[in-house]
Amino acid sequence: MKPAPITTAPTDAEARRAIAPVVCYPVETLSRPDLAAYRALREGMELVETVIVPPREASAWTVPAGHFCRMVSREGPQVGDLNLFNANDLKERFYSGKTRALNGTHVGLGDQLFSSFPYLRPMATITHDTLDWYGFDAFGGSVHDVIGTRCDPYTHNLLSHGGQYHHCCHSNLTRALAAHTGLPLHEAEGHVHDVLNVFMCTGFTRDTGQYFMKASPVRPGDYLEFFAEIDLLAVLSACPGGDCSSEHSSDTVACYPLVVEVYRPAGLPEGWAPPALNGYDRTHGL
Ligand SMILES: [Zn+2]
Repeated sequence: MKPAPITTAPTDAEARRAIAPVVCYPVETLSRPDLAAYRALREGMELVETVIVPPREASAWTVPAGHFCRMVSREGPQVGDLNLFNANDLKERFYSGKTRALNGTHVGLGDQLFSSFPYLRPMATITHDTLDWYGFDAFGGSVHDVIGTRCDPYTHNLLSHGGQYHHCCHSNLTRALAAHTGLPLHEAEGHVHDVLNVFMCTGFTRDTGQYFMKASPVRPGDYLEFFAEIDLLAVLSACPGGDCSSEHSSDTVACYPLVVEVYRPAGLPEGWAPPALNGYDRTHGL
């Protein structure tokens, strides 16, 4: 519990609280892809790879630029924690915080997933979401968040006073990235970053602002699909929290595999090319 305020409120406190907010990053000037053109490519696309993510484990795979990728919950309700990298440069990776600042707390159809500084460009565009019917519930919860980080053994260690648990998403992603790249374990760990929580239903409590989770509404066959704007290396962990209705960082709850499918479209829109690297000149005023 947070302590009660120790500072007397100013006399105009209510007036200050009543000031209307403004959106930090109005996105009207942001270039957006032609979603209809992307979605038209889905007709006749060909399945070229299927990857299984075992429960409480992670798997890595690549998606060439211009291909589609689906993450599917097939056997039972299961949340996935996704990391994305430029397949040719691990330094360029998914930037959850800026993706959140631009798109909001949860992502869906038409949203783009952005990469880290100094690259900051779209890595992927979400082209289908079978959970888009969910919207925001009465608790302020929604699916596919970019507000959580990933369950990890360090936070678990703090909260459990010394616990050692090895199948948190952070460790699963670390092992899978190390196995895929050949990097030593601790080097791979340094590349693991804040995730897109696929299928996870989350929000912030209205009274205390705490991060909450609740049972994912995902049903067998639901999927989230993206179009790869650049060559991608993806790593997905099937969270030990299962549907994240009760707890994570343990082997207690039911967990299911996730299925990944990579599709190659018959062609690409005329003139399409991967987005350019960010145009800021990086002189930083010097
Ligand atoms: Zn997790």
